Amino acid sequence: MSILRIAFLLLVTSYFLHAGEVRSLTILHLNDLHARLLPDDRKRGGFAYVAQAIRHEREKADGVLVMHGGDLVQGTPVSTIFDGVPVYEVASQLGLDFHTLGNHEFDYGWHKIREFMNEASFTILSANVVNEQGKLLTGEAYRIREVNGIRVGVIGLLTDKLHSLTRTSLMGPWKTLPIIDTVRHYVDLIGDRADLIVVLAHIFPSEENSILRSNKGVSIIIGGHHHGGQDDVKEYQGRICVKTRPYGRELGRLDVEFDVGNKRLVSYRWKRIPINTHQYLPDPVTMKLVQKWETRVAKIVDVPIGRSVRTLKRHELRQWIESAMIHAVDADIAYMNLGGIRDGLPEGEILARHIWNIMPFDNLVVTARLRGSELPKEVSTGRVISAEREYVVATNDFIAEKWRERGLPFKKDGPALRDVLINWVRQHKVVQ
Ligand SMILES: [Zn+2]
Repeated sequence: MSILRIAFLLLVTSYFLHAGEVRSLTILHLNDLHARLLPDDRKRGGFAYVAQAIRHEREKADGVLVMHGGDLVQGTPVSTIFDGVPVYEVASQLGLDFHTLGNHEFDYGWHKIREFMNEASFTILSANVVNEQGKLLTGEAYRIREVNGIRVGVIGLLTDKLHSLTRTSLMGPWKTLPIIDTVRHYVDLIGDRADLIVVLAHIFPSEENSILRSNKGVSIIIGGHHHGGQDDVKEYQGRICVKTRPYGRELGRLDVEFDVGNKRLVSYRWKRIPINTHQYLPDPVTMKLVQKWETRVAKIVDVPIGRSVRTLKRHELRQWIESAMIHAVDADIAYMNLGGIRDGLPEGEILARHIWNIMPFDNLVVTARLRGSELPKEVSTGRVISAEREYVVATNDFIAEKWRERGLPFKKDGPALRDVLINWVRQHKVVQ
């Protein structure tokens, strides 16, 4: 046998040894469902419809994993009144395999997360929420699941900016470890036990980019947290990130072809499937559970309180909310953060429920007396302020807690912001 021939044979053998098999995997994913059990005013979302959409897509593929990228709770009366627990009960019907903790999972205190875990039929993964001893809040950082002959390692991850998004008192002994180090640690730890690694992450888009750039071991990021979703797949050197818009309005479907031997994506296709009541019939079991919980809050929230002459988007509500705050506590200036306004207001009859959706948090309106020169820039920007004058400044207690840390003397008590808004609508009857 000539040397050339041997060399050729070696080359061919090594190609087949290393090229490995190409296998397919489908990931169905959503994020930030935020307790929206019912479809919205435009008939989008609703847990019973989400369940049906997932089932429908699952039937059309083999080798499927279903994931939710965090923030299952916080956003509707059922969640606020019952501390999020029923949302996990209903979500257990969706057919999820994995879920990761979002920042809002802490909104009812970290103890509730233990209750969520007891309620959930799916696995909750979170690799970087730990206490002083390094113990994991969820007990599980990652899971390896074989799907269609691919050993898929899924790592759960939460933004390491959690402390700036959540009150310290709600986090108790728990804190987040830096995301890049955490991912590196678990990718190394999983090593050859998995072929494909997915990070299921409730993180900021900039954090997604850092992971894509810094860790070649991560093939796919299934994201969450950023409510803008994505229009297209984010790709960096063959590694990708996808996420959907919030509230169950769309289901992401990612179909990948994966080279098991070389541990890399060969190809992928991603689409966002709209979920609405025209497209799908409700899943009956999920619907029954949704109705069970919605009936329990209906008496409190399905009460007409006024009328809106037009649709108001979240940012358009800001000034309206600030006016209501000023009126309620006799302030000179009010500041409402846009992030705290969780929904818009539809045109037509206003129910108390609409205000609950705008303001699901149990926030208070609190005040401080400040000189013009002391005003936080969020308050002074765009206003004519005299440095020497004293102002009564109102804000919600979430913002006030941050401002107290800067030495501003905000009170800790005041009226409930949601009640302030409901009364404001009741008094004015019409929102323009
Ligand atoms: Zn979030």
